[in-house]
Amino acid sequence: MNSSLKLFSVRGIDIRLHLTFPLILVWAAFQFGVLGGGGLAGALFGVIAISLLFVLVTLHELGHSFAALHYGVPVERIVLLPIGGVAQLRNMPDKPIQEFVIALAGPAVNVALAILMGGTAVLFGLSLTNPLTSGISLTLGALFSYIFFYNVILAVFNMIPAFPMDGGRVLRSALAMKLDYGRATSIAVSLGRGLAVLFGLYGLFNGQFFSVLIAIFIFSGATQEGQMVKFRQRLRGYTVQQAYSNRVPILRPDDSLHDVANWMARGVTDFPVAQFDSYVGFLDNERLMAALQQGSSNQTVAATMAQDVEPVSPTADLYDVQQRMSHEGLSALPVVEYGRIVGVISNRHIRQMLRMAAMRPELFPRVQSA
Ligand SMILES: [Zn+2]
Repeated sequence: MNSSLKLFSVRGIDIRLHLTFPLILVWAAFQFGVLGGGGLAGALFGVIAISLLFVLVTLHELGHSFAALHYGVPVERIVLLPIGGVAQLRNMPDKPIQEFVIALAGPAVNVALAILMGGTAVLFGLSLTNPLTSGISLTLGALFSYIFFYNVILAVFNMIPAFPMDGGRVLRSALAMKLDYGRATSIAVSLGRGLAVLFGLYGLFNGQFFSVLIAIFIFSGATQEGQMVKFRQRLRGYTVQQAYSNRVPILRPDDSLHDVANWMARGVTDFPVAQFDSYVGFLDNERLMAALQQGSSNQTVAATMAQDVEPVSPTADLYDVQQRMSHEGLSALPVVEYGRIVGVISNRHIRQMLRMAAMRPELFPRVQSA
């Protein structure tokens, strides 16, 4: 990830600043300094206000992240973009109640902050004037008001049921408690895309550049996740047997990466490793690429391979296998039968099989699921 800069980390989660982030600071300085007529002081006010706003955004994303960690879902990183923050979870749990809690945890942080800030205002007799209607005066009190109101807006805005925003996730998970997961997702996706179009048009006609950006972000996010879920749903009833490749070289622990690189140049990406005919480890493409970039090509397969990758059986359900790959962040898994390696299953193989099955369904019968 070279497109972002690490700021610090919390409980192992890197908080990163996207390289486009300074744009929002420039925008804020311009907004308050030039358009608002505040001059240099106004520009400074804008930069401070937006920076504080992003502290709130970070806390919001940490809310999602801690809830995810609570359910054992790894959080890859939090990235701060000019249009807001994103907590990148390894996967979204498909237990509806877990997604429900994770989605609500972000806005819940803002609600808690609103109570805290409101209480502070009452305690110190600060007047909270709505900065959207009263205009900005460049004082500490105005800064406090500004942060208070934007914190509330953050909570309300995120709860709009435009999937994949928080409100949309709450909706999808609530629907999935009653309906089939695929059906629940497609309803949430349609609503999300519809709202994104309306929001985008509104932004376009009112010259609000950021609204258009956010609308595009929501629309493409909803589309992508909808397709992902559809892809998974289509896997139900198929087995590994129907999709895996049995034409893969099997490595030995004392092979060198030099040998492996030769295979990779010929299009093989993932390798099971066996000793005396039994499975001992797995070398997936990502791990190999990292090793080849850093280590020497004399390094052995034994020193590079993952020993903790549980293989799958040919009779395993493809839906479960694909799920496991995404949970473990792998794009392939070794296929083992009676202790012997028989091949590799990857996302590439699965997509290929689905393409074939769409053309010739009679050649790819589905196992009737209970
Ligand atoms: Zn959120």
